[in-house]
Amino acid sequence: MSIEIDRINKRFGDFIAVDNVSLTLNDGELTALLGPSGSGKTTLLRIIAGLEQPDSGRIRFQGEDATDLHVSDRGVGFVFQHYALFKHMNVFENVAYGLTVKPRSQRPSKKEIRDKVMHLLEMVQLDWTADRLPSQLSGGQRQRIALARALAVEPKVLLLDEPFGALDAKVRAELRRWLRRLHDEIHVTSVFVTHDQEEALEVSDRVVVMNRGKVEQDGTPEEVYDHPANPFVYQFLGNVNLFHARVQNGVAKIGSVQIAAPEYAGQQDSLALAYVRPHDLEVLNSREEDALHARIDLVSVVGPTVRLELQTDTSDQAVHAELSKHQYRSLGLVQGGDAWIRPVISRVFLRDADSP
Ligand code: ATP
Repeated sequence: MSIEIDRINKRFGDFIAVDNVSLTLNDGELTALLGPSGSGKTTLLRIIAGLEQPDSGRIRFQGEDATDLHVSDRGVGFVFQHYALFKHMNVFENVAYGLTVKPRSQRPSKKEIRDKVMHLLEMVQLDWTADRLPSQLSGGQRQRIALARALAVEPKVLLLDEPFGALDAKVRAELRRWLRRLHDEIHVTSVFVTHDQEEALEVSDRVVVMNRGKVEQDGTPEEVYDHPANPFVYQFLGNVNLFHARVQNGVAKIGSVQIAAPEYAGQQDSLALAYVRPHDLEVLNSREEDALHARIDLVSVVGPTVRLELQTDTSDQAVHAELSKHQYRSLGLVQGGDAWIRPVISRVFLRDADSP
């Protein structure tokens, strides 16, 4: 079931929560709506669900206009951050609920319900909890049951709003891998809201980056991470260093370092910023013409990775570099010592009024 979001607008009073958003979410894909708090992700999800009416624009499911359809007629399943299971019902009854309340003519037989619920519980690897009450489950297990319950009625679209938001980091990481595997099995068109970039990059087929009610970029996880469309996406998806630069005729200069910037081939001398991820900075232990001198202010070892905080001669802003412990040792670098840095991969954006 594809979902077409066509020029959707939504205001709350004077506040524009969703600003003329158009997107097509493909059949069977798992799409993440990613953005900072207040960027309009949840409002857009609720509009897809039919829990919120847009001020203008249309929502189409598989080409059919669904904008005026009631939530109960849209065939959507939900999992929310705090999706309370029915406390007085055991796990089996919770998952079976949506099937047991169907009108008699559409309701499956008791045996069919039993088989289906047990199949779903096996799929979320919790068949052994069928007789337990929700209070006897961990937070992660409860979310898996909430997902099984949402899937029981065979939704055409599955909508998840920060489904793992309330869980601790380790459980969260496990559950998102698990969700990915599950999605590979069932292929229901799914949209999930998150403000966690790692979660979006790891789980989804497609990432829609939102900011201030608008879509900043829409692409595969690799596209948005490796080729951010603009400075906002660059900064939102991971750590990044900003270097002041001057661009002229396709070359950006950061002090003595020159970077090719062919996208600005005809550019007259202009101010720019070069964006470089910490792991895309090469760190050297001796002077080289095309490298910037820096002092190593701080060395922190995080598992197999060494993070350096450096200070260049020309900027007050700390520069962050990341290298393997092995590289760090073989370079013989020390806290308080000298280093030279060179961007290996960077992206240059001309400065404008919005630049940091
Ligand atoms: P979060 O991650 O914090 O949930 P979000 O990107 O999902 O953020 P939304 O929940 O869509 O953002 O909210 C977008 C903006 O609209 C917020 O500033 C919010 O305060 C506002 N908003 C949302 N719902 C309402 C409402 N019913 N009435 C008034 N303002 C609302």
